[in-house]
Amino acid sequence: MCRQFFDEPLSLHTSFRIGGPARLFLVPESVEQLLCALKSFPGARLLGKGTNVLAPDEGVDVVISTLGLNKFRFDENLVMSEAGVLLSKLCVESAERGLSGLELLYGIPGTIGGAIFMNAGAYGAQMADVVEWVECFDGERVRVLQRNQLEFSYRDSVFKKRKWLVLRACLRLTKSDPEAVRSKMEEIMKRRLETQPLDVPSAGSFFKRPRDNFYVGKAIEQLGLKGFRIGDAQISTKHAGFIVNLGSATARDVISLAQTVKGLVEKHFNVALEPEVDIW
Ligand SMILES: Cc1cc2nc3c(=O)[nH]c(=O)nc-3n(C[C@H](O)[C@H](O)[C@H](O)COP(=O)(O)OP(=O)(O)OC[C@H]3O[C@@H](n4cnc5c(N)ncnc54)[C@H](O)[C@@H]3O)c2cc1C
Repeated sequence: MCRQFFDEPLSLHTSFRIGGPARLFLVPESVEQLLCALKSFPGARLLGKGTNVLAPDEGVDVVISTLGLNKFRFDENLVMSEAGVLLSKLCVESAERGLSGLELLYGIPGTIGGAIFMNAGAYGAQMADVVEWVECFDGERVRVLQRNQLEFSYRDSVFKKRKWLVLRACLRLTKSDPEAVRSKMEEIMKRRLETQPLDVPSAGSFFKRPRDNFYVGKAIEQLGLKGFRIGDAQISTKHAGFIVNLGSATARDVISLAQTVKGLVEKHFNVALEPEVDIW
């Protein structure tokens, strides 16, 4: 049986600290329990670490957390991981074994499932570089997809396109020097701390990069919008690509702020922004 919670505030489960209650919030502790929950509640939403979601103020019906699916196993340079394992945990474990491939992704605060869903990436690396196969649920049955079937592109995957759910994945890493991997991770974390507002709730970069060589944060900054706010939702004063929650921002505040910024960027740069954050 999954653990069950009623009227569970989603603000407790999202890095934005925003979101009304989930009428039913389920926490399975195995892939089998997850499949059982998905079959019982076909319209349920899957939540990983909640670092790329804007949940509605009025809440949602059923949410299933993957955080109880936290087993992983290394076999030489391969790692088999359940969907709810934190990407940062696998980065650290890989570094300890002298395995390279995840170090540039260190600091992305979500789960393996969430990272594969949106092909998370940073500093020139992306999940697509390392994923070997994925076991997923397509709403009817479990499938295993090989890397050439994953349809990865910038912040996109077959899972996002078809609403398929990641259950387990295998990542292929390469043998390297543990010290070199560790020092790259430290360098990346330092860069994040210097440039990102990590001490304030957010969901990371709010918008996708619309094309190569167009930097959303820079464009928003050029429009003088750093610090601009609606309610408690603010364009970060540290990194204009981030929308932050100053304390009691609502999903509505964030959406109106995002729409205002989108409108201004379109008017001044003739570029249409799309959210990277998943708006439920
Ligand atoms: C401070 C900060 C920095 C960030 N930096 C980066 C960055 O550098 N690069 C980057 O790409 N992202 C970044 N992000 C965004 C986010 O961390 C990533 O997108 C992460 O991969 C989301 O994982 P999650 O487990 O939190 O997903 P969630 O937020 O829980 O879910 C996001 C979406 O994925 C779906 N989902 C979750 N698990 C599964 C699953 N198992 N199967 C199918 N769908 C699933 C959910 O339904 C939801 O629609 C950052 C966020 C923050 C807060």
